[in-house]
Amino acid sequence: MNAQDCLQILRNVKDAAFATVDEKGTPQVRIIDVMLVENEKLYFCTARGKDFYAQLMRDNHIAVTAVNKEFQMVRLSGTAKKLTEQKDWIDRIFQENPSMNSVYPNKSRYILEPFCIANANIEFFDLSKEPINRESFVIGENKEQKKGFEISSSCIGCGKCKKICPQQCISEGKPYEIHQNHCLHCGLCFENCPVKAIKRRSA
Ligand code: SF4
Ligand code: SF4
Repeated sequence: MNAQDCLQILRNVKDAAFATVDEKGTPQVRIIDVMLVENEKLYFCTARGKDFYAQLMRDNHIAVTAVNKEFQMVRLSGTAKKLTEQKDWIDRIFQENPSMNSVYPNKSRYILEPFCIANANIEFFDLSKEPINRESFVIGENKEQKKGFEISSSCIGCGKCKKICPQQCISEGKPYEIHQNHCLHCGLCFENCPVKAIKRRSA
């Protein structure tokens, strides 16, 4: 699994949830087609009359998520950039997605504007595996964002976290260790450690 594989899952699902923030700071989400994925970039388009377009022009932060039939979930958080050479990109998108011709026939297609997501943090989450599997990736200039929990040197080795972890992804050691690829980020260990040795990685 790598970043391109994650983007390809979004492309294969095709109808993904795209979230933005409106002028009041309220989150807004809608289903948008993932039109093209190549070279660790995701392409989509929207019409200039849509609120989605206005929101992107005001604030280009965007989140995208989808799940496939195998219960593999991908989510992405990054920025969208409007592409110049509008007609060339819209023609390319229609070539790759011929069904668009019935929605926007002939030259009506040029009411659409093409966007590219080239900078993002991506998370892959596979609920079909036991224990669950998760991985994270970065595309473009975004920096890695650590999430979940880790065990500090204050651990006294009582074993409580290992016993209660629903995914059995904590192993004994000095200190005990969380196997990040299998962690649900549920926080049960964090809430129950008697010496508060478990810390949020994002803190
Ligand atoms: S519950 Fe806390 S002290 Fe006990 S093993 Fe886990 S991290 Fe260490
Ligand atoms: S956050 Fe939940 S799944 Fe992850 S190690 Fe702690 S108890 Fe286990």
